[in-house]
Amino acid sequence: MESNMENSRNNRITAEEIALQYKYMEQIKELNQEYILKYGRQKLAFLQSFGCQMNENDSEKLSGMLEIMGYTQTGKLDDCDLVIFNTCCVRENAELKVYGHLGSLKALKNRKPDMIIAVCGCMMQQKDVVEHIKGKYRQVDLIFGTHNLHKFPELLNRALETDALVADVESSEGSIAEGVPIRRGQGVKAWLTIMYGCNNFCSYCIVPYVRGRERSRQIADIVNEARLLGHQGFREITLLGQNVNSYGLDLKDGSSFADLLRSLEDVEGIDRIRFMTSHPKDLSEDLILAMRDCKKVCEHLHLPVQAGSNTILQEMNRKYTREYYFGLADKIRSQIPDISLTTDIIVGYPGESDEDFKQTLDLIEKVRFDYVYTFLYSKRTGTPAAKKEDQVSEQVKKERFNALLALQNRIGKELNEPLAGKIVEVLAEGPSKNSITTLAGRTRTNKIVNFKGSPELAGRLVKVRITNAGTWSLEGSLE
Ligand code: SF4
Repeated sequence: MESNMENSRNNRITAEEIALQYKYMEQIKELNQEYILKYGRQKLAFLQSFGCQMNENDSEKLSGMLEIMGYTQTGKLDDCDLVIFNTCCVRENAELKVYGHLGSLKALKNRKPDMIIAVCGCMMQQKDVVEHIKGKYRQVDLIFGTHNLHKFPELLNRALETDALVADVESSEGSIAEGVPIRRGQGVKAWLTIMYGCNNFCSYCIVPYVRGRERSRQIADIVNEARLLGHQGFREITLLGQNVNSYGLDLKDGSSFADLLRSLEDVEGIDRIRFMTSHPKDLSEDLILAMRDCKKVCEHLHLPVQAGSNTILQEMNRKYTREYYFGLADKIRSQIPDISLTTDIIVGYPGESDEDFKQTLDLIEKVRFDYVYTFLYSKRTGTPAAKKEDQVSEQVKKERFNALLALQNRIGKELNEPLAGKIVEVLAEGPSKNSITTLAGRTRTNKIVNFKGSPELAGRLVKVRITNAGTWSLEGSLE
């Protein structure tokens, strides 16, 4: 037991370190209050997040810290006193956007030299990126990485005191910081990060290099945060991790993801629990049973397969075969027959032949996913796949993408059509994008439903009869 406690303490930021950050927050708050007295306005911060939900959740922590420090957030770059880009390096496009934004801020910084420009997130965990920014974007004042996000107040304090660049990026395997303030947006759904990092090193993915090794939060800490969310009025939580199925392995006390789901079942106020992302190789039978038995866990599983050919799966270092995946899908459906399965596919991985791609189409036809998120393979410098010479041409990637889309559109429609006339439980989220008299919500199987109803229904579980079942969404009327 002692060694387990030691293990969980070792990668945890100490309470003293977190308390120190609160002191810095108070210090900056005082400065900002003096600023209000002097200039008659609050300091404004512009925060933009790129990439995945985990990054969004990190941005919610930055928002929490900003709030305590007395910053008001604004959507207008021109007005602000502090700019923060929380970056992503999973796709090249997101990286290019960040460079574009930084470049265009040069003129603004010249006009407002006191404005602080901060860049953080996954991109900053890459040495060459940090060097590039240091050399080319002199207007940047503060650089920090994913591993020291909790130190933002201390680093901002330093940046406010000096004209020199403050850069602090830890290259450690990562740690866990409990007690960092968090400010979530309005709504009925909340992200809840349960673990950080990844041990899998899929050959196309940069995440393990920038997010460190797997670190799980303690079950008690996660349950406490979920209780708070229930108390704050959130109705649905989505548990986040790069591979939630291996949650707990590093704690070495026998805790598993299935245990965590069971522990969250009694949290008051929370009606629905979802999670992402799952790695097929780590999805245990116990987890399938927990999903079946926990009434709050929704009947939806996002289970990225990435490719349907065993050759490509092996090249990708995914550590399972298509046959294993078929068996897993069958096992899941035998225990939870109404489950909706969704997946990710990478089209055009280096060396993917026509025959390999046919195997992917065949897998999609056989598994019959409710939804497939398709990505064109793009090189990530620093990953093994980027060094491969047999890259697939953009033209071929696009053709394969279109073929896959056509197939999935047909399957998605076929799976949705039988829902017409059925009554489903929907968590009403708020006005739909198209009309304020129409509400949007989701079924437990994560399908979007639009229906007429009053805005006061937001946050309530309602019964809706499906009147029209399309490929992408459903329409219905309140029962
Ligand atoms: S499981 Fe693979 S794809 Fe997912 S984050 Fe880890 S390395 Fe990347």
